[in-house]
Amino acid sequence: ASVVGIDFGNLASKIGVARQRGIDVIANEVSNRATPSLISYGIKQRAIGESAKTLESSNFKNTVGSLKRLVGRSLSDTDVSNYESKYINAKLVDVSGSVGVEVNYVGERHTFSATQLVAAYFTKLRDTATKELKQSISDVVISVPGWFTEVQRRATLDAAYIAGLNPLRLINDTTAIALGYGITKSDLPPPETPRYVVFVDIGHSNYSVAVVAFSTGQFNVKATAYDRHFGGRDLDMALVEHFAEEFKAKYKIDVMNNPKAKFRLATQVERLKKILSANSEGVLSVESITNDVDVSSKLNREQFESLGPVQNVLSRVTKPLQEALDLAGISKDEIFSVELVGGGTRVPAIKERIQAFFGKPLSTTLNQDEAVCRGATFACAMLSPVFRVREFAMHDITHYPVRAEWEASPDEPDEDNQIVVFPRGNSIPSTKILTFHRSGPFDVEARYDDSQPLPGGINPWITKVTVKDVGPLKDGVPAQVKVKVRLNPNGMVSFEGAQVVLEEPAPLQPSGEEGMDVEQPEAKKKLVKKDVPFVTSGLWTDKSHLDNLKEIENGMYEADKLVADTEDRKNALEEYVYDMRSKVEDRLAAYVQPEEKQKLLAALQEAEDWLYSEEGEDATKSAYVERLSRLTAIGEPIAERYRETEARPKAMSELRESI
Ligand code: ATP
Ligand code: MG
Repeated sequence: ASVVGIDFGNLASKIGVARQRGIDVIANEVSNRATPSLISYGIKQRAIGESAKTLESSNFKNTVGSLKRLVGRSLSDTDVSNYESKYINAKLVDVSGSVGVEVNYVGERHTFSATQLVAAYFTKLRDTATKELKQSISDVVISVPGWFTEVQRRATLDAAYIAGLNPLRLINDTTAIALGYGITKSDLPPPETPRYVVFVDIGHSNYSVAVVAFSTGQFNVKATAYDRHFGGRDLDMALVEHFAEEFKAKYKIDVMNNPKAKFRLATQVERLKKILSANSEGVLSVESITNDVDVSSKLNREQFESLGPVQNVLSRVTKPLQEALDLAGISKDEIFSVELVGGGTRVPAIKERIQAFFGKPLSTTLNQDEAVCRGATFACAMLSPVFRVREFAMHDITHYPVRAEWEASPDEPDEDNQIVVFPRGNSIPSTKILTFHRSGPFDVEARYDDSQPLPGGINPWITKVTVKDVGPLKDGVPAQVKVKVRLNPNGMVSFEGAQVVLEEPAPLQPSGEEGMDVEQPEAKKKLVKKDVPFVTSGLWTDKSHLDNLKEIENGMYEADKLVADTEDRKNALEEYVYDMRSKVEDRLAAYVQPEEKQKLLAALQEAEDWLYSEEGEDATKSAYVERLSRLTAIGEPIAERYRETEARPKAMSELRESI
């Protein structure tokens, strides 16, 4: 089994693997340690990750990003309409209740749900890890924002399943960071005087804060706070709007109403934004932003920071920090250090505000880009039997309060019909038992409590249990029924069981040893618990439906692979033609008869002509393979003669040495 951790980022994802010597964040096919979270649907195939990035500009309507923001959402979700739609160029549609995209793929209109998009993307990450580890992988730990609700977590797990992965657990981003921080520290204090560390992760789309207490061998997340709409992309959008306005006057072009122009500008403003993190001013230029119009401009850091939407972002920096401290009940001077993570924390104006808030220098002991990924990989290693990892107990907490609800019953007229079972900040995992008195079947539902708003239009309903049969009643007295509700390590809620509590007469005490008088106590009643049948329903996807989606994904995956293999065989044929043509004049010249050479050159010429014909330009894999084997049938005997002769003197010298 393998150990893999994934930081599923909105802009790009990172993959970590565990090896005997430690954890490595791995590089993809173009040697980047972050893989763009993008899929581009093409005429022949899909391009995912880096290759999607290169196609984004030419195929931007069929290229989809923001995968993490879409997963588990519906089309009517206000987050989707108010925010995500600004960053997505593909057409958003409803796919059986979930948000999805409609794209042009293999020459047809296709729709894919957000879960399918993430699944497709995960197959790419899976392949990158497989290539690195040289073994097939399945066990993974995937990081998600702590504010992800049940349906978002479920959809992420479903996507992993469709991609053929086996998620051992989901881990909250900041919890992963805390794990990576703590597990490497050997100087942690005793539990009575914990070390408080604040982790701040600002990424492309999201801002998370956690206050964490570390002590020897463990950590406790004390409080978390989020701004779900705060990240690098908000700054990009501010710059896009600024330059669009400027270019309207300067070049008489309307960038905002031209999606392609807007996309091109967005790419360049991100570069400018990064330049402004290290320099006081920078230039921007976009070649042919619209038909043959090149634009350019410049901006200094002060101007950048004074843009309205940038001011708006900056004004929101301290709110989550204050909220987390308040919830944790910790004052600023109790904090040992403030650790910054995520690309967004590189923006000087953001950093300055965080530093001013805490009134102390910020720490960058963590790898800003890879801390989440490393932590997720540690978490996977801890759950995997393959690696022995230092014992380090993590105690995470949940963000949204969860309540249980049931219908009032004549059996218990005075009872409340709801209770908050897991308040905000409840530890993960956790199990609670609810006690009812009922004479017949009844339902209990779990839902998010309205005291804490959910993202966008997410439905607060989570799951329901129906206790089917409470068993025969004794003297008509309602049975005492215990219902178990669990918050699992993934931060998801489920009903796990139902039992009735029955009184049974205790067995008679065995009499004492012979000759001794033992007083027989009065026969006491004993309480025993008995399982009763129950059914649950929830937000999970039908297994057969998931398997169907997995098959569809496999189909597209295989099709992509065939296209890639075909391309590969075509290249091999092309290469052979050029290679042999030059070699036959060069190093193979001495091993080829004139007649044979003529034959080979003619065959090479024929293959080349075919390759550039309409047929050969776009043929099947087997056609390329077959053409190549026709050539090697002539060429290989020649090459073989050469190799034999070459090997001979070497073999002779080896022989001599051994004598
Ligand atoms: P999220 O955490 O929201 O899912 P992510 O993990 O993909 O997103 P990160 O990789 O942490 O995001 O950060 C990416 C963001 O940081 C982008 O908006 C990028 O432009 C920005 N960024 C990266 N480097 C710099 C820099 N030097 N200056 C300013 N911004 C930067
Ligand atoms: Mg991130």
